[in-house]
Amino acid sequence: MSDDKLGLGVASNRTGAAEVAAGIGDVGDLMVYAYAMEAEAAERYAEFADAMETHNNLEVAELFRKLSRIEHIHAQQIVESMNWNEPPPPPPGGFRWLGLEGPESGDHADLHYLMQPYHALQIALSNEQGAQLFYAAVAREASDEKVRAGAAEMAAEEEEHVSLIQQWLERTAKPEPGWSRDDDPPMLGD
Ligand code: ZN
Repeated sequence: MSDDKLGLGVASNRTGAAEVAAGIGDVGDLMVYAYAMEAEAAERYAEFADAMETHNNLEVAELFRKLSRIEHIHAQQIVESMNWNEPPPPPPGGFRWLGLEGPESGDHADLHYLMQPYHALQIALSNEQGAQLFYAAVAREASDEKVRAGAAEMAAEEEEHVSLIQQWLERTAKPEPGWSRDDDPPMLGD
């Protein structure tokens, strides 16, 4: 669980924002990005839930499952609002994110088999912050006025997600020191 992850994200955000925005020429492009972000996040949370289930960490598995459902609904809402018959293909040349992948997706390296809901929510928080930064960068840098306006709206929405997760974190028990110590460690090669 690296606390500096977001800091690094901000740094790469500064260097890549103009290039990212250049790939988003109209509102249709913006929605393709938005869809990809939500869909990738939904998929990633589902993978996290599977991983936690494998380690019998059912409480966190359920939390990731819930987050996956939320992102899936977001993705479906975009498909419906755009009247797409099916999810859009990636733009020619592929997506240009600020990092290597969609900013709303967590990193497998952040998982720990003994992690607690609090940790899972920290991942979610950093994902929502990443999404907010992405849209804010597009709102700032895009050449098309409607893209800038749409991205600003979505940045505001992501900011709401950020505060929702922050409230959720406040209601969630903080892990005790030593939370990652296993009193009954799995067998090697397990
Ligand atoms: Zn969000």
